[in-house]
Formats: sequence, C-alpha cells, structure tokens
Amino acid sequence: MPSFRPAPQTRCARPVAGPVRPALAVLLWAVLGCHPSGGGREPGPGVARALADARARTVSGVAYDVTLDLPATRAAPVTGRVAISFDWAAAGEDLVLDFRAPADLVGAVTVDGDTVVPRLVPDHIIVPARALAAGHRTVTIGFTSTDAALNRQDDFLYALFVPDRASTALPVFEQPDLKARVSLALTIPAAWDAVANGALVSRDSSAGDGRHRLRFAETAPISTYLITFAAGRLQRLTAERGGRTFTMFHRETDARRVARNADAIFDLHAQAIAWLERYTGIPYPFAKYDLVAVPAFQFGGMEHPGAVFYRADALFLEEAPSRPQELGRASLIAHETAHMWFGDLVTMRWFDDVWMKEVFANFMAARITRPAFPDVDHALRFFRDHHATAYGVDRTAGANPIRQDLANLRDAGSLYGAIIYQKAPVVMQQLETAVGDSVFRDGLRAYLGAHRFGNASWPDLVAALDSIAPLDVAAWSRTWVEQPGRPTVTVRWDGGRVLLQQTDEWDALQAASAGSPGRAGAPATRALRWPQERIDVLLAWGATTRVVHARLLADSASVAVEDAPPGAPDLILAGVDGQSYGRFPLDDASRATLLARAAALTPALHRAVAWQTLHEEMLDGRLPARALLEAALAALPGEPDELVATQLAGLVRGTYWRWLPDATRRAVAPHVERGLWRALDGAPTPGRKGALFGTIVSVTITPDGIARLERIWRRQEVPRGFPVTEAMMQAIAEGLAIRGVPDAEAILDEQARRLTNPDRQARLAFLRPALSADPARRDSLFRSFAHLEGRRRESWVLDAVGALQHPLRAEAAIGRLEPSLALAEEIQRTGDIFFPLNWLNAALGGYASPAADSIVRRFVQAHPDMDPRVRGKLLQASDELRRASAARR
Ligand SMILES: [Zn+2]
Repeated sequence: MPSFRPAPQTRCARPVAGPVRPALAVLLWAVLGCHPSGGGREPGPGVARALADARARTVSGVAYDVTLDLPATRAAPVTGRVAISFDWAAAGEDLVLDFRAPADLVGAVTVDGDTVVPRLVPDHIIVPARALAAGHRTVTIGFTSTDAALNRQDDFLYALFVPDRASTALPVFEQPDLKARVSLALTIPAAWDAVANGALVSRDSSAGDGRHRLRFAETAPISTYLITFAAGRLQRLTAERGGRTFTMFHRETDARRVARNADAIFDLHAQAIAWLERYTGIPYPFAKYDLVAVPAFQFGGMEHPGAVFYRADALFLEEAPSRPQELGRASLIAHETAHMWFGDLVTMRWFDDVWMKEVFANFMAARITRPAFPDVDHALRFFRDHHATAYGVDRTAGANPIRQDLANLRDAGSLYGAIIYQKAPVVMQQLETAVGDSVFRDGLRAYLGAHRFGNASWPDLVAALDSIAPLDVAAWSRTWVEQPGRPTVTVRWDGGRVLLQQTDEWDALQAASAGSPGRAGAPATRALRWPQERIDVLLAWGATTRVVHARLLADSASVAVEDAPPGAPDLILAGVDGQSYGRFPLDDASRATLLARAAALTPALHRAVAWQTLHEEMLDGRLPARALLEAALAALPGEPDELVATQLAGLVRGTYWRWLPDATRRAVAPHVERGLWRALDGAPTPGRKGALFGTIVSVTITPDGIARLERIWRRQEVPRGFPVTEAMMQAIAEGLAIRGVPDAEAILDEQARRLTNPDRQARLAFLRPALSADPARRDSLFRSFAHLEGRRRESWVLDAVGALQHPLRAEAAIGRLEPSLALAEEIQRTGDIFFPLNWLNAALGGYASPAADSIVRRFVQAHPDMDPRVRGKLLQASDELRRASAARR
C-alpha cells in the first residue's frame, strides 16, 4: 500500500445487524472474528491526497450501478446496493473504497460474486488484497445511506454531493479524477416523481406494492461530486428550444409565478448552450439537460450534468423584478450551463483547483448574458458583480489566495468563497487582456479538447497558454493566483504627468495587526508587485476631464497627459476601467471633490468606481460614515443607472446599520426614510421602486415609518407604481416583529395564513421563535443550532440568525457572540460549502461595538490551534466589525 498517514482511531469494526446485510455475512464475521487492522497503515478519515494519487494510478474504467430504495417516510432509512466495476492494476494491495457511515450501515460485500469480509475503518471499506486479482473486477456492496447529503423532507429529497459527500450516501471512490459512468435505479412511492443525471428509461409499477421502480440511463463519465437525484412530489414542465427538450422539475404551487417565468428560464438555457457551443467549438457534452427548482436550496445552483439544481426563488422571480434580479437569474443559468464544459466535461484533478471551474463559469456567464441584456452596461456590471465582494475578503487579515493547497478532500468545502467566485474572474479578465482574446480562447479550446471527459489542473492550462501567449503566464500566476491580497496603488500629479506607485497592501495590514489577530505564520513583509496591463485614471479640472491609460508592471509607472489644463487636477481617481484591481486611495483634495461630484460623473462605470472608492475610504477611517451616507442618499433619487442605484442603496443600508452610533442613527432616521420614499416616488420603473421599497423595509425605525409599513402590510395603504409581492409582505411582517410592534404575533399568524406554498409556510414556522418578543424563545432557538439536527436547513438557519442578531437586538444579546464563534469549527466539518462563512457573517453582522470586537479578538487569541481555514473565515467575517468599532471609538 502507499504510505498513508496512520489513523489514530483505527478500530476493529464489527458490523451488527444492519437492514441490508444478509445472514451469510453474519456467519462469516462470527467465524473469522475481527480482522486485524493492517499494522497501523490503514487510511485515515476523509480522502488524503496520497490515497487519491495512489488510486488514480491503480484504478481506471470505473462504472457504478446503483440501486436505491427511497421510503415514503423520512424516519425510514434509504437502503441500496452498488456494483462498482473497474480495472485494477495493483495486485497484492488492498482496495480502499470511501463510505462515510457507521460500520453497521455496511452490508454484504462481494468481489466478482464471491462474498468477502472487508475491513471497516472510519470513512473507508477496505477489500483485502487476497480477494482481488489484477484485471477487470466488480465489487458489490449492500448499504444503508446516511441522510447527511440527502436533504430529506417529508415528501421530497435531493442528493447534494459536492464536494465530498457522495460517500455519505453510497460507497464510491470519492475523488474527482476517478470519473465513472453511473447507472441508477430508484424505488419510490407511487405518488412521487424523480430525476437523475441520466434520462428516465423505464418506470415499472407492476409489483403492486405502491412502489414504482425507475431506471435511468447510464451517464457519460462524471466525477462523484456530480452524481445526483431528486425525488418526491414534483411537477414537470417541458419545453423545446433549438431542437433540444428541457424538462424543469419544481414544487412551486403558484401557477402564475411559474407561467410568468418559464419561457425566460428555458430561453436563457438555450441561449447559454448555443453561446458555449460556439465559443468552445464543442457540442453540448451530455445526453439531456433537465433542471430542478429546489425550495430553499443551499446554493444558487449546482451543475449536476443532466439535472442542474437551482434555488427555486432564483428561477421564479416575483412580479415586476428589478433589472439586477433578472440579470442575476440570467447569470446563474449561464454559470451552471458553462459548468457543463468547465467542470463537468473537463474537471479539476483535485479540489485545490476547484477555483478553475468557478472562474470560467463566472467569466463565461458574464459574456453569455450580454446579448440578452443589450440595455445594460456590461463593463459596469462586471465591476459591480465582482470587485466589491472580492475586496471584502482581500482587504482582510483572513484573505486567501485563489489557488489553495488541499491535503485532504474532507476540507474541500473550506476552499469556496469570494476569492474563487469574484476575484478569480477579475484576474482571468486581466489575463485575457494581457494575452489577447483570440489567444485566450484558443488556449481554452486546446485545453478542453485535450482533457474532455477527463481531468486537468491549473498548470495544464498555464502550459497551454504559455505556449501561445506573449506573456510569462507562469510568473504572472505566482502573484495573482498563488498569493492572497491586492496592491495599493497611489496616483499623484507630477506636472503634466501622472505617477503611479504600487505597494503591497498585505505589508500595511501586517503592520496594523501586529500584536493582534493577524494571519497565522505570515511573513512580516512580502513586498509583492502585481503586474496590471491597464489601469485607467480619471483626472478632472473643474468640468474638464481626461482619462489616461496606465500600464503598471513594476513598482511605478509614469504617464504623460496630453493637452492637460494648467495646474494640478482637483480630482484623481484610479481604476475607472472597472477591471483593474487594488486599493486606490484618494488624496485629500480628490476625496472632497469626489464626495461632492461622484453623482455627476459619466459614464455610469465611473460613478460605480467612485462610490466603491469612497466606501474604501470610509473603511480605512479616512471618510466619516455620516458623510458617505448623506452623499449616497442625496445621489439616489437622481441616479439614472439601476446597477449604481442598487449600489447606493447598499451603501445607505450598510453605513446606517453598522457605522452610525445608535443615537446618530435614531437622529437621522426620519431624514433617511423620507429620502428613500422620495427616491421611490421618483423611480422610473416598478423594478426600481420595488428595490427601493426593500431598502425602506430594511432601514425603517421611526414610529411613523413603522406605522406606514404596517398599514401597507394590512393593505390599508397601497404604494403606487409597483406590486407589493408576497416576499415583500413577508419581509414587512418579519421587520415589524423585530421592531416589537404590539400585535407582532397576530401579524405573523396572519402572514402564515396568507402563504399558500407549503415550503414557504415551513420556513416561516421555523423562523417564528427568532422573531419572537420573548427572549427565552429566541435563546431556545439559538441553542438548538448547537446540534446538527437543528442546523439541517441551512438557508433557514441563516435567516433565523439574521433575525436573532439583527442590529436592533444584537448588542443586547452579546452573550450569543462567543458561542456562535465556538460553533464555527464544527460547522466547517458538518455544513455545506458556503455555510461556515455565511454562519459567521450572520452571527457577526449585527454588531458594531468595541465590546463585540474585543470578544472576537479574545476568542481568536484564546484559540491558537483553530483550524487555519476557519480562522481565516473568522477574520474575514469580523473585519468590518473591527473597522466600524474603531471608528466608533
Ligand atoms: Zn459554480
């Protein structure tokens, strides 16, 4: 065997009576007793890189034939049998399969029909070498699934295996580079429907036992994290587009809502497929394209080939959606569709390169959606979709590089975040700019063509590009892909020229956080230099403006300004191209000018960059929050671009709740509420009015404002020009409860009655204790999150924590802060990929006080052995608290 890390808890596992284990195995165990564990060289928990590498060398040609029995009741276990066929090249070695389940869930095991006795260690089933000759082998295993990745509800379940959870449901080789053809058969209650990666081949009801047997076609080779199925009470909707049949499975009970959205959903899929076929030169690689709209899905979407999952609310938009909501849906559909090529057809060899599939999905999505939204400024949109969120991580002491090491697959979930989804597309855009778009596309085509239905790693793509590009891509990658952080680029006027100077923001951050929680083991200085092909600088002398293009490849660059007016400009703003990346600090004169004139800049992209830069100034303590709030509020009614208006509304909410001391907030509230209602009255479209109404619901705290929202909720007042949707009504009801209106419980009861969709009713029922005026009920709900069972519905839990820790209530419940932080490591182990950071963001989001900041600092210092990835997330999530509390001191 390869040299595995000895597993300290290797145990002599002994199956007890399991639901699917036949008597023969019992007999064998009784006769043979407990097998020795192999001299302390058993594989440890999870899938270590060494185990994956060894298996990739010795196992090939894998196929899974899976049979699962899905019972009608959630309490009964899912049972199954899998036949795993493969070519085995490691005669004399044990075969390690992955199954993350208690030993008593393993049933009979055979090799080519002969019963064998496996060794069971945590997370693995080991077939001894003597039972396996080299050649084509078939191992069958009976098993009972754990529910960890099956998302079981009373009349619905769905498998979500990314990144390493297939092995919680069935025995597999859990690693992305052992792709397999998968055949699936499901036995389900007669009233249910089901969907899987392969097309439905047959549905057999002949047994007469109220159970139907469904068989699905064998898939093309796919990685285990892409295996899926969903079953339960589902409705189907089928459409033809471009010669292809799409079927959507959903549970939406509002037929008008489905009808309103269905055409757009199918059109967007067909457009995305056509675009990707053209760009890649490769036809859609899988046999069918079905989609599943999952209520309260934990992600926006998941790219299972043949059965793409989406969060139902992301597909079925409410009446009169805003333009950003429509764009968001189109981007999501394009993202998941791009994965069919980037991720599903060609897959990362190991999850350290999971960013590659995400970067190309986002990068392609940004292009795919352009033709469907000709009225949108797509350069602006790219900036808004990426920079602010990426900066939100990169400016913190917990920032991570795009490409991260991964020693064990069980930690793969911790790799996901804004750096992968938002920074990486910016960096990839810069690479395309540097090498040219046709070279870039040809490199991608060569890469996809060479590895189709296989695996590749980032160095494979670097090599493909390096061979044709006029740039040292490997050297570029060492900074932009392999290091965290961003440059600080200062720009100053130098008599007819602008002078750009870059430093490494990391170094300043390390200096600032010396003696306080910083990046563990980080060097004191790095002095990295970040090459950028293009940084546009806006200069203004009164109403006269110039934009110069700078190229910053080393420490500094100097660019002459043609026809410059006399004297120094009164505004210097760098980064207005919307693709360059970094902290671009303002000098004092520029800051004052920009605060007064940001709203008047054109084009809209310049305004978006201006507001982003002003936000950074506030975060760095160089601009009072109140000044930014007032400027954003004043700009909102006149802002012509909806994306910038959304940005402004976000600035208003963020500064209002987190950066204003409570007394200031109460003092400015009447003025803020009035300003937002005025902006709503003047907004040109129902979508924009609706978006502003959402901001009003968020910020309203004056008695008059609350009374008005209550009248709207009671339908005694109908705002003009936009529909108050069910989701808005629910947000009002929840907001009224958090604000402690006297008849909050009656309002919530009535709100529950108004909901017709059972999934939305269930969410509100879950949320009720978080909205309660009774602190004991709130505490009791919070305590339930300490147990895995209490955290199963992650999107509901996040909504509940958001309500429990609302800024109006958080400081009074500061006792919950430390227990929330203490749960983070466990949540990292048990939760889905976005849950740990989202948990920390929700838990910390309501706080702004120095006392809360001290609790976080003490917690970090008291836990030097914290998992570094969790520590990084905690530093990310607490960064704004640190800055806001400093501003309040
Ligand atoms: Zn994705």
